[in-house]
Amino acid sequence: MIKLQQVNKWYGEHHVLKEVDLDVARGEVVVVCGPSGSGKSTLIRTINRLEPIGKGKILVDGEDVHAKGTNINRLRQKIGFVFQQFNLFPHMSVLDNVMYAPINILKQPRAEATELARSLLERVGLADKVKAFPGNLSGGQQQRVAIARALALKPPVMLFDEPTSALDPEMVGEVLQVMKSLARDGMTMVCVTHEMGFAREVCDRVIFMDGGVILESATPEEFFSAPKTPRAQRFLADVI
Ligand code: ATP
Ligand code: MG
Repeated sequence: MIKLQQVNKWYGEHHVLKEVDLDVARGEVVVVCGPSGSGKSTLIRTINRLEPIGKGKILVDGEDVHAKGTNINRLRQKIGFVFQQFNLFPHMSVLDNVMYAPINILKQPRAEATELARSLLERVGLADKVKAFPGNLSGGQQQRVAIARALALKPPVMLFDEPTSALDPEMVGEVLQVMKSLARDGMTMVCVTHEMGFAREVCDRVIFMDGGVILESATPEEFFSAPKTPRAQRFLADVI
């Protein structure tokens, strides 16, 4: 579903992704972890072309993401993205936030978009908040709206970049719960996260990055019980 082939990226002289190869199968849940500055965000942002790449190739659902002829807007409809910061439209209700893309991008009729948005908000546990404005919600609630909004385009792939890092600890669980249910429903997911409990319990594979390189790619059982590299051993000792 997602394929990275010898992807390299530079910021000026700084080589931040080095010969990265990654294959994510349909329905697979991959957690990307690693120290700060290792290239996790850069990696995930190249998958929907928020960042250009220097060398290599990225395919999503068979489409060459970085090819000149690629219709990037159409491609991005296939890739939901959830950031650390929720970036909701502050002047729109929760329901309008979720309906915005289906109406404006997919040109869905309003009634249909409303029905979809309501069902997505119910799915993330916010059926009672449809009329609320983002500013009146907690961080965990806002992030769940952001997930519902990303799901509104029915993307086959979801990318998460530290979706719980900006949240107060007591709100992390409710967001992880939504991500878990997506994973169980067969969504293809790449998640940058330091939530090792989530990784252990939910993901199919853990990718450990350091210095722009994928140092390890292993099942959670392998990774947590016997990380192969000293770098990953040290990282785990610090985060767990
Ligand atoms: P963190 O855990 O802190 O989020 P990360 O693993 O996501 O870190 P990236 O944000 O991908 O790391 O950054 C990888 C490297 O690229 C870092 O050395 C960073 O300083 C550098 N970098 C990131 N964005 C830019 C940019 N826009 N311009 C120049 N250098 C950048
Ligand atoms: Mg990052």
